[in-house]
Amino acid sequence: MIRMQPRELPAEALAELADLQREIDNLPTYPERVSAAVEQWPSRRRRRVFDLVEKVLGDMCPGPKRCMFCEDNGAYQIEHFRPKSLYPGLVYAWVNYLFACGQCNAPKSNRFAIFSAGGEVLELVRTALEPESGPSVLLDPRQDEPMDYLWLDLSDTFRFKPIHAAGTPDYSRADVTLRWLGLNDRDELVEARRSAYGNYLARFEQYATRKRSNADPQILERLRHSIGRLTHITVWREMQRQHQTINELRALFAEAPEALEWR
Ligand SMILES: [Zn+2]
Repeated sequence: MIRMQPRELPAEALAELADLQREIDNLPTYPERVSAAVEQWPSRRRRRVFDLVEKVLGDMCPGPKRCMFCEDNGAYQIEHFRPKSLYPGLVYAWVNYLFACGQCNAPKSNRFAIFSAGGEVLELVRTALEPESGPSVLLDPRQDEPMDYLWLDLSDTFRFKPIHAAGTPDYSRADVTLRWLGLNDRDELVEARRSAYGNYLARFEQYATRKRSNADPQILERLRHSIGRLTHITVWREMQRQHQTINELRALFAEAPEALEWR
């Protein structure tokens, strides 16, 4: 998981979302706002404005319409980061939308947790009372840089690990994100990261070999471009970040240090 590049939604689309949101916000009580948000969503979701929402979210994805959480499956579900069943005031908020696959969206679904004033993880349940907005425990790939909380083990397991010490809030953010989304538990994701590493390495070796033999700059540029189109971009970012500690990477990045800046 990496932080998504921000993109703007056109002003007319934002205005249309604001109109839809106003309908919800004008309802007198919190339970009514929750019911309306949940019940209206499937039909409102079919409006044309959401084609545009999907298009812009798709442009933000890590790879062509890849899920913002797992980077593996196609993204086809607009995911409310703060669930509409808890935060009806954000059901039509552009900033609250992510683009995810069903396998990531289903287990996360309506779950949400915030840090209490005392710093404890508080999983929210739907009640008649509006929950505090409180800081999110789950990492939001639009607002947070997940790589500040997680690192990917490229030498062995290809599973993510929390960066910060157990017992700290930053550890909780990493831990809850990994568990709720199943990012380490789905074997196919682990295998996809492992094979992505092999693909990145092979292309990068090809680049270094060509560079060594003074290849035409256009050929080098084409190879660079092909690396940028591979899936599981987090694997590449980790290769850049960990290049000093993995022998085969240290040698390659020493030959082609420009690749440390490739995004
Ligand atoms: Zn996913």
